[in-house]
Amino acid sequence: MVAYRTLRRSLLAGVVLVLLAAPLWAQGSELKLTLRRDWGYGGFGGDIQGTFSFAATAPPDTVAVDFYIDDQLVATDTQAPWRYQFQTDDYALGTHVMRAVGHTAAGATMASNTVTNTFVSASQGQAVLVRFVLPLVGVLLLAFIIGTLISVRRSRRQGGSAAGPWGVAICPKCGRPFAMHLFGLNLGTRKYDRCPHCGKWSVVRRASQAELAALEAAAAPGPAVTPGPGPDDVEAQRRQRLEDSRFEDV
Ligand SMILES: [Zn+2]
Repeated sequence: MVAYRTLRRSLLAGVVLVLLAAPLWAQGSELKLTLRRDWGYGGFGGDIQGTFSFAATAPPDTVAVDFYIDDQLVATDTQAPWRYQFQTDDYALGTHVMRAVGHTAAGATMASNTVTNTFVSASQGQAVLVRFVLPLVGVLLLAFIIGTLISVRRSRRQGGSAAGPWGVAICPKCGRPFAMHLFGLNLGTRKYDRCPHCGKWSVVRRASQAELAALEAAAAPGPAVTPGPGPDDVEAQRRQRLEDSRFEDV
């Protein structure tokens, strides 16, 4: 048992050491190039269009970094942070291999990793955006409609038509019940909705019949709800109507 614990502890220490050391390795003696999207389209399968930046991390003794698109030197940065911003439209459409070369004060050179992307035209970028994003919006809309239909059906089955199709929630802020709204944000079985009594937004769920009954009982200490017309009243009304009709001109 003790041996197991010690083993586990040393394993844990090992993992922590590796996690701590990882950034140090990354910072090490190598030149690392990444491409950042500043404005534009960075899409599927490495297609890019717009304003992008080379960003390099280099060892402290670096004095200059050259940025290349294919074999064309596009810029030399002589000061950290090692950056260079460019427009993809300034270069030929198609696949490009980008890389950086670092220079140290001692005159050594370092090659970076390469980054490969396909420069596409603005209209191509938009076309892809439309092709992928519009269907996604459609799917989300469909999911919303289906979710709404399901909750309407469920509340009908529970006979909650008076409470609105989305059911009644109890406000956690002021403790009063309110009918949930269509515009409330659906979060699975919960909803982010606004209480009309106190005006506060909170995550609520449909209250059970028991919870509502308990709330009603607590809220009304005196005689409960005003009673509707009893059978005697109905009979009296009918007789009154009969009486009245006698004096109507026909
Ligand atoms: Zn409230």
